Amino acid sequence: MLPLSSRPTEAAAPAPIDLLDSAVALTREKERAALRSSLLRTLSEMLPISELRMQDVAAATQEEAGEGWYMLPLAGVEREGRVLAVQLAEPRDGDERILQSFLRLYENFLAVIDESERDQLTGMLNRRAFDLRLGAVTSGLSGPLPSGQAWLALLDIDHFKRINDGYGHLFGDEVLVLLARLLRAHFGVREGVYRYGGEEFALVLAGETAEAVQRRLDGFRAVVAEQRFPGVGNVTLSAGFCAIARGVAPPLLVEYADRALYAAKDGGRDRVVAYESLPEARQRRSGDIELF
Ligand code: GH3
Ligand code: MG
Ligand code: MG
Repeated sequence: MLPLSSRPTEAAAPAPIDLLDSAVALTREKERAALRSSLLRTLSEMLPISELRMQDVAAATQEEAGEGWYMLPLAGVEREGRVLAVQLAEPRDGDERILQSFLRLYENFLAVIDESERDQLTGMLNRRAFDLRLGAVTSGLSGPLPSGQAWLALLDIDHFKRINDGYGHLFGDEVLVLLARLLRAHFGVREGVYRYGGEEFALVLAGETAEAVQRRLDGFRAVVAEQRFPGVGNVTLSAGFCAIARGVAPPLLVEYADRALYAAKDGGRDRVVAYESLPEARQRRSGDIELF
């Protein structure tokens, strides 16, 4: 609930500079939560709002059915059944239209954010979304840390260039689309699955031990190896992964996972390698022990 009782209740026209500031803030917001609070702030500057809540329609009170209340459905932008409940102190002609217009604006901004974080071919979250998520995980702002260990895996299709060269780019695209579907089915929606670029995918996984993560990735590798890709036949992939340690810069984590991936390629492809199992990681660890 967002009580706005400190706001003036008279229908004062908003100062143009406030509106401009809000609009600028609105266009700058990248994250949904920030966008939502920016929208609510802007609305409260424009209209004589005395109460403003985002809530479940089922939780609407008797009071909210009364004079001056507006219930605006947020279907499509918030989870099912959410409404924006607004009470205007002195409703004027046109206020409801302003409310409706702002909701459309909110929907449009969310659609732009969504689009900017999706890969067009596979519908997967893209590199930009991955960078945001990994940054949030390493800085402790988002799960699965701090409650448990998280892992970063990079997956790369083996000899993908040969698929393009041998069957054509369109068949290559179909392999990517089917692989994206297999990734979603195998890892589900709770874990981060991203198209990192080209024929590479990134995963942010929860898991207690490197052995458990290795088993899961290896399970997926086997699923892919057994799958018949229409018109192409069998396709394999290699993967490298590393532990996500809080405070370690995301580009360094990507580099560790990438080194493990390239060890998997060097080792003959169609395999999964943990960065922590590489000699360089062991040396780094023993170096740390000497230091302390
Ligand atoms: P490796 O086993 O070492 O990974 O070999 P590779 O052939 O998979 O790797 P390489 O990096 O040489 O080739 C990747 C190819 O992926 C080259 C590029 O044309 C192709 N590719 C990148 N994005 C797409 C895409 O969206 N669609 C298709 N069809 N091909 C793509
Ligand atoms: Mg590659
Ligand atoms: Mg490849």
